[in-house]
Amino acid sequence: MKIEFSLKNIVLAAIVSIITVFIIFFLFNLKLIDQKITKIEEQYVEKIIGNNIDTIANLFYFEFDDSLQTLLNSIKENVEEVEQIRIVKELPHAKNAKDGMLVYPLQYQGKTVGYLQVKYRLVFKDVFWKRYQTAGIFIIVAFFFFLAFILYYLYSKISSIDVLAARVQNIDLSHIRKIGAPDSFKEIHTITKSINTMLTAIKENFQKIYIQEKHLQEAQKIAHLSSWEYDLQTGEFSCSDELYRTLGVDASVAMQWEDFLSYFEEKERNRFLAMLERVQKSGISAENVYLFQIYGKTKYLKIIIKYRKTKQEEKFIGIALDVTEEVEAKKKVEFLAYHDPLTALPNRYALQMRLKELAKNQQKRFGVVFIDIDDFKFINDSYGHTFGDEFLMQLAKALVALNITSDIFRIGGDEFVLIVENFESKKELSAYAEQILEKIATEYEVEGVKFFVTCSIGICIYPDDSEKVEDLLTNADLAMYEAKKEGKNRYRFFDEKMKERFERYNTIAHYLQESLQKRDEILLYFQPKLNFETLKVESAEVLVRWNHPELGFVFPDTFIPVAERSDLIIELDHYILKRSFESLEQWQQDPLLSKLYLSVNISGREFYDPHFIDYLKELLQTHPIDPSKIEIEITETVSMEDAEFTKKTLKEIKSLGFRIALDDFGTGYSSLNYLKQIPFDTLKIDKSFVQDIDKDEDDLKIVTLIINIAKSFSKETVAEGVETKRHEEILRDLACNMAQGYLYSKAVDKEQFRIFVNQQNSSSA
Ligand code: C2E
Ligand code: CA
Ligand code: CA
Repeated sequence: MKIEFSLKNIVLAAIVSIITVFIIFFLFNLKLIDQKITKIEEQYVEKIIGNNIDTIANLFYFEFDDSLQTLLNSIKENVEEVEQIRIVKELPHAKNAKDGMLVYPLQYQGKTVGYLQVKYRLVFKDVFWKRYQTAGIFIIVAFFFFLAFILYYLYSKISSIDVLAARVQNIDLSHIRKIGAPDSFKEIHTITKSINTMLTAIKENFQKIYIQEKHLQEAQKIAHLSSWEYDLQTGEFSCSDELYRTLGVDASVAMQWEDFLSYFEEKERNRFLAMLERVQKSGISAENVYLFQIYGKTKYLKIIIKYRKTKQEEKFIGIALDVTEEVEAKKKVEFLAYHDPLTALPNRYALQMRLKELAKNQQKRFGVVFIDIDDFKFINDSYGHTFGDEFLMQLAKALVALNITSDIFRIGGDEFVLIVENFESKKELSAYAEQILEKIATEYEVEGVKFFVTCSIGICIYPDDSEKVEDLLTNADLAMYEAKKEGKNRYRFFDEKMKERFERYNTIAHYLQESLQKRDEILLYFQPKLNFETLKVESAEVLVRWNHPELGFVFPDTFIPVAERSDLIIELDHYILKRSFESLEQWQQDPLLSKLYLSVNISGREFYDPHFIDYLKELLQTHPIDPSKIEIEITETVSMEDAEFTKKTLKEIKSLGFRIALDDFGTGYSSLNYLKQIPFDTLKIDKSFVQDIDKDEDDLKIVTLIINIAKSFSKETVAEGVETKRHEEILRDLACNMAQGYLYSKAVDKEQFRIFVNQQNSSSA
């Protein structure tokens, strides 16, 4: 039989035990009272007998029978308890000794002479019990009734509570209904009412919690946020539904800790476990993004972990956030940040990272091969950017196909860099460079157009040429630049001299910039141009000179190429143009010079600058001079870089009223058809042809041809570099119009120029 430890049973058992204990206690007390009374009465009897026993013994020994009888009677009469008192000779038999009988030996001088036998009855005890019997029974019965009532009362209350407890126990929190009171006790009703109020509150809260839980689930779903807990003591793992969804695993099978771990990509799992260990040790929460690999699918989860340890539990609590999209977007952005979108090759930024990475491993040698396409600008300008892009893609493919290295970067428009590791000697690198030159120098076809390109290559070796990563690319670039300068379609290894040249170049650029801010360091020199017939000065070419406090007197061959590699050339050309306008303005007031016109050299950079025409217009507005007194000199080569643009620009210059000269004529490859289309006034025969005109048949033929062409287009010719009388004679015979050269004057400052004009124009009148 199963004993139920219900409240009812416990209370019942307690009450029964109390009653039992009480009865035992009651009976025990009665017994004690009885014993006490007995003892008192017996002691009283014994005391009386004890006090008289010697007297009785003497009287008996000396046979004073009357006195003895009187004494015994008096004891019997005075002591109520004594029923019979007599003297016997022999000790009564043990079996005759009874309760309520006392026997005393009577002694005289140490000898027992007889026995006193006293029969007694406990009078007081009898009376006492007789008197209290009825009351006692009554009290006991009354007490039992009282107990029974209490028991009943308690029982009824307890059974109500018991019923209530059973009902409360059976409340289904998911379907909360009010409970009925089990009986009419007021307290039970109050309790029931409170429980019902509580149930209503619980119901409401349940609904709220349910709604909130729904919201939370929705929110988790929307935010791709899931939560999980791992109990370190029990090994139990629990997680929100969203984790199943996020990981894309079956939600009907409860996920275990081992399952969860198995979804991590292998290396990531170790990283995750290491993080758990750290968090457990430090107690500080941590977060990280981990890669998961579930059934071939890739997921990125950001996991935030907290460690909780109390007396009762030890847990990891985690939040997992699906960041797959973000990570992939970031990867894409990173790819774009590190790659050139056109060719998908890693870009300049990626190259810098790679170089740094390689340089960390200091023993390893590697070569940086810098490739630049020759005259790529020409392709781009002639056929457009889409065309150029298509060509670059073909080029990238060709470089990859060479299979020299997988480290290929596109770091600028037409600039590619290869990093070559594991090479034995410079020779091997040379072989690679030749392979590249050969591969690139081939015929390409884009949009049906066939063309041919070449490239120039610069090579720099780490750590031989530089241990500094920052310098590797610059050095390779310098070597490449050198290869271009030496005629393109070739490769050059970097050497220190290139660097010295480069540093010198930088110094010049820096100084030039400073000097351009001052008026007295960049000087205009004038070289006279004379009419062959009259030998009178009709014009002058403005040639720039630079008087620098540290570098000294510098000629343009030194600094013009430097200026041309930066925007300084634009600034310089503007400066010279402006100062030339100012000079002409001053010459208007000087009768000796007022008829002269000035030729000003314009660099290719300035010519192709979109603001060039605007600048000319601006000068015309600020300086009131006749524009036909300024001749713009551009070299034949520059003019040919973009024929269409040149045509358009020269027409605009012409329409503003300026003269135009094609400088260094004969060194370019203009066709007659081209010359026919562009407006110009003068052809300047390059001094390289003039120099040997008296010795070299070919040069003579070329010069003759140039003069005839100019004549046929009704243009003027200027011969540069006339150094000897012989030069003068030949050129005059060929009917060249103007002469310029050391035979007459070098370029000189304006004072000397005025002196020369004065001398020349008055003497040969
Ligand atoms: P360029 O335009 O061909 O100028 C003619 C160059 O030949 C000048 O050198 C001149 O001094 C030199 N020359 C003149 N006569 C003779 C001669 O009989 N024999 C020899 N051997 N040379 C002679 P310069 O002044 O050193 O100028 C060199 C180049 O610098 C110029 O060549 C021009 O391209 C450029 N340049 C000079 N001044 C300027 C300027 O103001 N702006 C720009 N953009 N370029 C300039
Ligand atoms: Ca010139
Ligand atoms: Ca020239």
